[in-house]
Amino acid sequence: MALKEILLTPGPSQVPHRVRAKLMEQAWYHRSTRFREIYAQVRQRLQQVFETKNDVLVFTGSGTVAMEAAIINVVSPGRKAVVVSAGKWGERLVQICEQYKLGLDVLKLDYGRSPTPEQVAERAKDPAVQAVYLHLCETSTGAKYDIENIGKAVRKVNPEALYGVDGISGAIGMACPVDAWGVDLFMAGSQKGLMMPPGLSMLSVSPRAWKVVEQNKGAPTYYSSLLRARKGLPENDPPFTPANTLFDAQNEALAMLVEEGIHNVHKRHAVLAQATRAAVKALGLELFPDSPAEVLTVVKSPDGLDSSAVIKTARDRYGVTLANGQGEMKGKMFRIAHMGYCSGMDTLSGIAALELGLKANGYGVKLGAGLAAAQDVLAQAPKEVLL
Ligand SMILES: *Cc1c(COP(=O)(O)O)cnc(C)c1O
Repeated sequence: MALKEILLTPGPSQVPHRVRAKLMEQAWYHRSTRFREIYAQVRQRLQQVFETKNDVLVFTGSGTVAMEAAIINVVSPGRKAVVVSAGKWGERLVQICEQYKLGLDVLKLDYGRSPTPEQVAERAKDPAVQAVYLHLCETSTGAKYDIENIGKAVRKVNPEALYGVDGISGAIGMACPVDAWGVDLFMAGSQKGLMMPPGLSMLSVSPRAWKVVEQNKGAPTYYSSLLRARKGLPENDPPFTPANTLFDAQNEALAMLVEEGIHNVHKRHAVLAQATRAAVKALGLELFPDSPAEVLTVVKSPDGLDSSAVIKTARDRYGVTLANGQGEMKGKMFRIAHMGYCSGMDTLSGIAALELGLKANGYGVKLGAGLAAAQDVLAQAPKEVLL
């Protein structure tokens, strides 16, 4: 274990001291006024940061619970889901549909690509389509999807279809105003932009989506049943034992995000992304996705160089954890997160560790070249964005 660890993986992300302090508490009883007040505040603050008036439910479980809930409560027999799949997380959406034998139409694209509004609309226009699912950011490739314009295109060809967005990595760091962009089901997870350890997942549900859920009473769901979760909402009393200590800490993290201001949070992530991309370019490396997201930067490993070795040096020698590619992309890329509780100085540490790792593993890099490019970006950013 290094003297000091800097975690720059796209989940989990770093947890602020203010939040960690909350996590040290003794366990306490959850069927209590204390819990109900915390849950009420968590839900209200999530509405603020997701920019929505829709109900926001919080499940105890990792992000996948929200993905599963958003699909199996909604897609009914005889209807189908359109899923965009261009990476590992798209594949998970597909697997959930397949596991429950739901009707499915997959828009499959090469890894690193983002769908166009036309491509999605072409699939969504079939009246059998009940919902369209895709990501704000496909974390395995670092690609950003154009949620606003894809949503518009879907509504034009199929006004009834629900719009489900997996924002588990993109939420908070990237703008996705849920109401303004017509997102019916918005998924998030605590361990990414929400500055928490893993353990909570969030789902916002629009009034249109509730209607569909109400009609789909036979949905094959128990733990992730939206109707069960809704029953206790007026009293802020969830159906199963909530991870109440995590809710308390999440409330603190949300307070920090509200204090910073969600639009400033978006700007901070945009600056960190810009700085990281500038560094990568200065190092002569190439970005992987066509349309890069603001919450992580995914970089191709130079020809013949195994990214695993570079990542190992960065972690074991310098205490900075970067992420590898997933599945068949392992060894072929670096994924550098700048998500959640991440400052300009954290980003510079990540770039410095990448440079050192590259050099140690035989890639001809001039130390400091990436750093200088990133520093130029940070030097020009407004002060309030970096704090
Ligand atoms: C992390 C992530 C998830 C959820 O993963 P869990 O391990 O269940 O928390 C889902 N979608 C995307 C895009 C993610 O980045």
